[in-house]
Amino acid sequence: MLTKNQIYETVITDYTAEGQGIAHIEGCAVFIPNAIAGEKVRVRIEKAAKSWASGKIVELLEKSPHRRSRECPVAKLCGGCDFWHMDYEEETRLKADRVRQCLNRIGGEALEKVPILAAPTCRGYRNKAQYPVAFKNGRACAGFFRAGTHDVVENERCLILPVETDRVKDAVIDYVNQFHVSVYDEQTHRGLLRHIYVRRGAESGQILVCLVVNGRELPKPDALLGRLKQVPGFTTLVLSVNTKKGNAVLGDEFITLYGPGYIEDTLCGLVFRLSPRSFYQVNHHQAQRLYRAAISQAEITKNDTVLDLYCGVGTITLAMAGAAGRVIGVEVIPQAVEDARDNARRNGIENAEFFCGDAGQAALQLEKEGVRPDVVLVDPPRKGLNADTIEALSRFAPRRIVYVSCDPATLARDVALLKERGYRLQNAQAADLFPRCAHVETVVLLSKGEIDSKNIRVEFSLEDMDMSEFQDGATYPQIKAYVLEHTGLKVSSLYISQVKRNCGLEVGKNYNLPKSEDSRQAPTCPPEKENAIREALQYFGMI
Ligand code: SAH
Repeated sequence: MLTKNQIYETVITDYTAEGQGIAHIEGCAVFIPNAIAGEKVRVRIEKAAKSWASGKIVELLEKSPHRRSRECPVAKLCGGCDFWHMDYEEETRLKADRVRQCLNRIGGEALEKVPILAAPTCRGYRNKAQYPVAFKNGRACAGFFRAGTHDVVENERCLILPVETDRVKDAVIDYVNQFHVSVYDEQTHRGLLRHIYVRRGAESGQILVCLVVNGRELPKPDALLGRLKQVPGFTTLVLSVNTKKGNAVLGDEFITLYGPGYIEDTLCGLVFRLSPRSFYQVNHHQAQRLYRAAISQAEITKNDTVLDLYCGVGTITLAMAGAAGRVIGVEVIPQAVEDARDNARRNGIENAEFFCGDAGQAALQLEKEGVRPDVVLVDPPRKGLNADTIEALSRFAPRRIVYVSCDPATLARDVALLKERGYRLQNAQAADLFPRCAHVETVVLLSKGEIDSKNIRVEFSLEDMDMSEFQDGATYPQIKAYVLEHTGLKVSSLYISQVKRNCGLEVGKNYNLPKSEDSRQAPTCPPEKENAIREALQYFGMI
């Protein structure tokens, strides 16, 4: 175990999923923010557990050629971005490598390299911002949270946002200060304004302003509108009523104060209606490249029925419609499904249908009704596919599965499950939709190779299927790989079984007992590993 406050000399070897540097000192994984692979550093240990620690650079002994001085003045404080201390080349390299490592470690592949679609610019790309509002030093201000806290860091100009978005923030704050509009306080649950939410159509330039309020009305709305109308592109003002405690930004009720309550934007040549709640990728240019990559992987023909699971407002579904015979989108949020249907109408698309429901259950229902998609595209949230969806994919046996993912770890887990059902990974491509931030998108193609699934359809029954991995959730190697990937910790099967048991989960026979006969002698899982394993179990939907 390393000693707190002690200084060690070490070399950064890799990065965590959150973009921190990793070094190994005396067998212990040390997480070091703002460090770049290859750098030699002196690091002060700030937190030390048995097999991991975190520390801060006190001296940079050998600088990476990729190190850059930060263009953003608040980059070190603000929890929004992760990579202003390095050049974009290193950022894209590490993102592509993270995807490769996940697919290899968790997905069982042996890829040497995964290509990445790098963004042409790191600036002004984000078409959505959610500024938390705070009252500090006698005045209201807005910015972004300091990493891991709810302390608002003010930033006059956020480099990844368009200028107009910051102008909206300034207009709202000016109005709030002039008319002494109260600011929400999390501790007392009092005060009105909670968040300033701004969405700007990258092609249309239209701006939707949504103020999240702990109430139902704004004082002097005309004074606010007067200010907002001076921002080019301002189109609509909506109130989101959120009177609940907690971290959810948007409330359930929306009151339109000005304009239509939504904006429009063009994506892949189609027009989309965007309400505050609709999912819409934040990087327009890169989203189009990602979608085009996904659609070209699908190799759709005019005879094909294509299923798009987790379709949001129908962006990818409608972009595929022109090439296909029939497209079917499935989405769980009713408002998004309404938007998707409306989007189909406004683009004159007649071969698209949308269903509201859980992707897996809806897919199984479609299968019962005799729908046989030739190609399935999935674009799930971070937690990946659930067991129903994997089961439905297996029953449909589509010619191709195109998987768009915002989390390489769950993608890799699902790739492994689909491989057990006869699919092969044919192609993997990363895409950078979040320059300067640690998230990365991936699109992979899975197919059954030479077998023409249109001609060979095997009827499965539930009894025939080996469902064991679903009962048990992720396998032990998958849990180990996930923990290593996210925390740098190595955990034993024994520890995993202990934590599973503590969580009330079934534990496989082999793992039920420690190797030692006398379980009192068996080591117990240390708390930091227990936390890491619990996180993995949550991630895999097991708890
Ligand atoms: N493909 C779309 C949306 C992707 S985001 C696009 O690129 O614009 C993922 C979407 O999955 C969100 O719209 C979310 O509401 C939806 N979703 C989340 N859980 C779901 C579930 N269990 N079943 C169906 N859709 C779900």
